[in-house]
Parts: sequence; C-alpha cells; structure tokens
Amino acid sequence: MSSALPKRTREIQLASRPQGRPVQENFRLAETDLPELEDGQILVRNEFMSVDPYMRGRMNDAKSYSAPFRLDAALDGGAVGEVIASRSEALRVGDVVVHQLGWREYSVVDAASATPVPAGLAPTSAFLGALGMTGLTAYAGLLKVAEFKAGDVVFVSGAAGAVGSIVGQVAKAMGASKVIGSAGSPEKVARLLELGFDAAFDYHDGPVAKQLREAAGERGIDVYFDNVGGEHLEAALAVLTVGGRVAMCGAISQYNSTEPTPGPRNLALAIGKQLTLRGFLVGGQRQHAAEFAGKMAGWLADGTVRYDETIVDGLENAPKAFIDLLDGANTGKMLVRLH
Ligand code: NDP
Repeated sequence: MSSALPKRTREIQLASRPQGRPVQENFRLAETDLPELEDGQILVRNEFMSVDPYMRGRMNDAKSYSAPFRLDAALDGGAVGEVIASRSEALRVGDVVVHQLGWREYSVVDAASATPVPAGLAPTSAFLGALGMTGLTAYAGLLKVAEFKAGDVVFVSGAAGAVGSIVGQVAKAMGASKVIGSAGSPEKVARLLELGFDAAFDYHDGPVAKQLREAAGERGIDVYFDNVGGEHLEAALAVLTVGGRVAMCGAISQYNSTEPTPGPRNLALAIGKQLTLRGFLVGGQRQHAAEFAGKMAGWLADGTVRYDETIVDGLENAPKAFIDLLDGANTGKMLVRLH
C-alpha cells in the first residue's frame, strides 16, 4: 500500500435518537482511524452516499426488519466509490463498487459485500438510484408485487421521489392506460407531467380522496403503488377497481410519528372489491435484479426512463440532506457527494 493512502476518515455518527422529526443535534461529525486492511478487504474512496427514508426507522431503538443504528457509532447505508487499495483477489484498485458502509468519506469494506458496477454504462450516482436499489424497488414492486399488466390504470404516491418517478415511467413504458401521481409541490406536479404522467396533483391542494377521484374518473385505478400510507392509502382503497392490487412499499407519512397511527378507515373495502394488498422489501426481490438491470439500462439509453437527482455536497451536510429528504426538499434521488 502506498503511503499516500488515507489513515483516517470523517464519518457521521448517531449522537441521539430522534423524537419525531430528526434535528441536526441527533447527528455528529467525527474523525476516526481507518483499520488496516485484512485479507479479503478493500479501501473505498466514496464518491456518493445515499440518504433513504428507511434510515429513519433505524434511528429508533425499536425492533424492525433492519437493525437499529448504534448510538455514538457511524451510520451506514448505500454508497458508491472507487477502490483505492485492495487485499482481495476479486476487486482491483480503480474498480468502482456499490457497498453498504456509507455516511463516511472512506470505507474499509469486505470485498464479498461490495458489488462492482459496469464502467461507462451510466454516471456512478445512478447505481444508488435508477440502476440501483431504488430502481429495483420500483421495477419489482410494480411488475412482480402489484402484478401490473398492460392497460392498467396506476396511481403512485411520492411520485416525484426516487422510487415513485421510476414507477410511473416504467408503468407507461409497459403499456399503462393511465398513470396518476401525487407529490408535494406545484413544481413536482409539473415535473411529473414532463416525465409522461397522464395526471398529477399536489396533495396539499385538498383532500387526497377528492383529488384522486377527479384524476381517476369513473374508471378508477387497478394498481396503487404506495410510498406514503395514511390518507393516501385510504383514498386509493376508495377508487381501486374490483381485483385491484396495492404494492405496499413505504409509509413515509408515518415515519416521524411518535404514536401508533390508525389504519385506513375503509380497509373493509378490500373484501367486497377482492383487493390484494402486498407489502414487500426490495431485499426480497433480488431474484429479479438481473432482469431489472438489463431492462433499465435499455430504458435509460433510449430515453424511455429519465431520472432526477438532488445532490448535496459534503459529508458535513449529510444530516441536513437526510432531514430535507423527509421534508420533501428532493426531486428524484437524494444523494450526498463526498469527493
Ligand atoms: P423519495 O425520493 O420519495 O423521498 C421521500 C419523499 O417523501 C419526499 O421527497 C416527500 O416528497 C415525500 N414525503 C415526505 N413526507 C410525506 C408525507 N407526509 N406525505 C406524502 N409524502 C411525503 O424517497 P424514496 O424514493 O427513496 O422512497 C420512497 C418510499 O419508498 C419511502 O416510503 C421508502 O421508505 C420506500 N422504500 C421502500 C423500499 C422497500 O424495500 N419496501 C425500498 C426503498 C424505498 P413530497 O414533496 O412529495 O412530499
């Protein structure tokens, strides 16, 4: 190893667990020694890290599908960067990899848990977004979980976000007869129409049920891709057709809640309409990763699918980027550029 390699890294630690909406004081910027590489490990100079809504759940000291973050230790999550030292046969210096030790500028990673990304296919940031976990969530959630078929009318909430914007465009590409999106600002609504959504509304403009009913018309919707939960899910249940399907992807309207939140008041509609509501995790959809990667690369290359990114510079701004994500400051994928 050359002496020019870094010996220390800056990282973001969890200083305290948020109560409700996170605040800057919940996070701490720290500098720590990098461990010596062991056999099978690589040192990665992280170019981008991802901030994701699911991280909010991991900041609570509560049992969930992924372990809580530890207090006074670095957070973790998706990152992409260049291998600058390697003690692995599988990965060489210069390779670009996606891994799960983000929230730091340099990461010592087990090579077995890093995924090399193909050179030249897309900007590296895309492997945290449209070509990464985000894209697979959209693709598998729509096509495999909600069992979308051509001609369906699709409604997606959080539609101007990373997952939602891909869901709507994939639905159009696969022959949806209508795609409706909801988002949190007039600018986001305008962007959805540019991306090819047939209808979009700002959920601040009035009750979701009323706005969705107007957008869906008599025909109703066949598929609801739920990123938000709460009022959005209740509104969707009201306009789903008989045999309609819901992919339960996220419930971001509840992530900062400090009390249990009531379910949709009209859930019993699922009986008469013979609805299917299926929750899913992207981790359980990895068997579709190769199919997804091939399809998405083609759609990005020919412009069928476009993706937006909101990029914040500097590790020290990562906590703010995360808080802003929950507040809706992003259009498309929220990322932090580290180098
Ligand atoms: P986004 O890029 O969509 O960012 C989050 C967005 O949520 C914000 O931009 C904001 O947009 C919106 N939002 C925040 N609060 C509310 C609210 N109270 N009501 C409605 N919208 C709100 O994030 P992702 O695309 O990464 O994630 C979208 C959803 O998918 C999340 O629920 C996430 O947890 C889930 N997810 C689930 C996965 C799985 O495996 N099941 C994997 C990945 C993501 P706006 O301005 O429109 O309010």
